[in-house]
Amino acid sequence: MSAIRVDGERVATGVLAEVAARIEARLRAGLPRPHLAAVLVGHDPASETYVRLKRRDAERVGIATSDRRLPESATTSEVVDLVESLNRDPEVSGILVQQPLPPQVEVEAVVAAVDPAKDVDGFHPLNAGRLLLGQSGLVACTPAGIIRLLDEYRVPIAGRRAVVVGRSNVVGKPVALLLLRRDATVTVCHSKTTNLAEVCREADILVAAAGRLGLIRADWVKPGAAVIDVGVNRREDGRLGGDVDPAAAEVAGWLSPVPGGVGPLTRAMLMANTCRAEEARRPG
Ligand code: NAD
Repeated sequence: MSAIRVDGERVATGVLAEVAARIEARLRAGLPRPHLAAVLVGHDPASETYVRLKRRDAERVGIATSDRRLPESATTSEVVDLVESLNRDPEVSGILVQQPLPPQVEVEAVVAAVDPAKDVDGFHPLNAGRLLLGQSGLVACTPAGIIRLLDEYRVPIAGRRAVVVGRSNVVGKPVALLLLRRDATVTVCHSKTTNLAEVCREADILVAAAGRLGLIRADWVKPGAAVIDVGVNRREDGRLGGDVDPAAAEVAGWLSPVPGGVGPLTRAMLMANTCRAEEARRPG
């Protein structure tokens, strides 16, 4: 039996259509268009590509965008000053600080400078804390997108065993908290976990976010499990590959591909967060 392919492009298109409809209704009511401001420091080619894709999604749903650029040599305080000016700008609904930042810039200081109400990446300590406490707030886009994928494919979460491989602040920890919030029994694995294969085999829901090509072997997957592959790794031939061996499709009940699984959802959730931030600021 072959797993159901979790089609991130299709689900993302649905999320973007919902966001577009909400914005359309606000515009009809005479409310301003949401506005996403991106902060770019230096000229990282991957960042340029991400920001271009985000701009394209924003245009599709009716979100205005602007890019604020600083040179590669920018200091922490210059980046913080720019962020603070965007915090004060009444036109701006959401602020996206594109990472990676150059090494001399303190990422934590910049993330903490973003107004939590405009923190559409969901990285600010206040929003991370709200997630931990089960309070409502802006949630990081990739973890929110993973839950959306599971819901779209009607994967049961409550009472199920969920295993998250990876404990980063941007993916592993927040997705574990979201699964816990939905009443899964959650185990978080990481690079020091000793019996990874065994733990993975217990998972009804397996989220692979280690950034290690093919780490999760097909025989680590419980038959019928929902496997969400977050990893984006470069194969030797230059193509992209996930953390999960594609042969897992013979065992899993659902499997998200790389590319075309989680990635499109991450971008769509950014648009949903921007719309939500604007709705919270100006309820209408
Ligand atoms: P990270 O490097 O910050 O964290 C990786 C985590 O995996 C760490 O907690 C580490 O302990 C764990 N890990 C590493 N090797 C391991 C091993 N052999 N066994 C068990 N655990 C191991 O990475 P991240 O930012 O969380 O991203 C993870 C992956 O997801 C990367 O490939 C990244 O490119 C990808 N990603 C994709 C999207 C998307 O939208 N598709 C978004 C964010 C991240």
